[in-house]
Amino acid sequence: MRHPDTWLKVRPDGLWCEPGGFFIDPVNPVERAVITHAHADHARPGHGAVLASAETLAIMEVRMGAGRAGRTQQALPYGEVLTLGGVRVWLQPAGHVLGSAQVAMEWDGSRAVVSGDYKRVPDPTCLPFEPIPCDVFVTEATFGLPVFRHPPPADEVARLLASVSLFPERTHVVGCYALGKCQRLIRLIREAGWDGPLYLHGALLPVCRAYEALGIPLGDLRPATVAAKAELAGAIVLAPPSAIADRWARRLADPVVCLASGWMRVRQRAKAKGVELPLVISDHCDWDELCRTLVDVDAPEVWVTHGREEALIHAAEAQGRRGRPLRLVGYGDEEEGEDAPPAESPNVAADATA
Ligand SMILES: [Zn+2]
Ligand SMILES: [Zn+2]
Repeated sequence: MRHPDTWLKVRPDGLWCEPGGFFIDPVNPVERAVITHAHADHARPGHGAVLASAETLAIMEVRMGAGRAGRTQQALPYGEVLTLGGVRVWLQPAGHVLGSAQVAMEWDGSRAVVSGDYKRVPDPTCLPFEPIPCDVFVTEATFGLPVFRHPPPADEVARLLASVSLFPERTHVVGCYALGKCQRLIRLIREAGWDGPLYLHGALLPVCRAYEALGIPLGDLRPATVAAKAELAGAIVLAPPSAIADRWARRLADPVVCLASGWMRVRQRAKAKGVELPLVISDHCDWDELCRTLVDVDAPEVWVTHGREEALIHAAEAQGRRGRPLRLVGYGDEEEGEDAPPAESPNVAADATA
């Protein structure tokens, strides 16, 4: 048996599975890429062969434009094993956004699992994370500090709807990133009993349409740009985080500025962004979920990337595991609003001038 650190390596382009001849979520164009999910920092354009879930490939195509999501594309259904250069590779749900996957790899008697981004809280828009026992677990740590505890998302949505009934003449404008958070928020609002129209900034519409085409119904969605100001009094408008404190939001009826993000746990952040109603809703694990996942996958070794590496490594060591910071570069944090919408979307252009 050879330990995964002899065959899964950190390269400037990202994590490289040497015998398999592929990168996972490479930050530069490569010959062969396995993509965990369609967020912009994980799924980049210009690769040769791209392997991902069918949903991820479909969303990449919508966001990047036809033909830019890889010269050739192969959809791999969850749980189906493919052999690349002798490496057994399969995808397992990550619970992060629609199509998101962990990448499991087995070679020469050892198994490594790369989580991509993930969460453990149920999400009505995607399949739940499935723990895979492994020798090395590569985990993100976006919210890898004990201070980060995400409350139940239904409670946060209940606070939003309570505010809407308290201020029936004001428009609630909710900042949420375009892929995943937006659609999850819509479904959570629907589950809370709101079946009237929801108004959307144009940058959010293409991915919503893609979700619906992939079997996630979102109900009555209308473009906010064409709605009359009077129609928007008492309405809920969803917009990218960059738009909520912008000129774009100022034309709404006395807006209540809301933002749905794990970072809203930090009061100063909400204040700095001019957020009146912070909603702590995250598509990443909170601290307890991260620690619980290390127990569930029970890997003797944990590689940590994407955020607060030190605290989670310390927690892994306290559980009797070896911890290692990966220090991969080039990955952003979509909850910070870096999950930029595709520039070529005509809806975005329309909104930019509105
Ligand atoms: Zn990420
Ligand atoms: Zn992500």
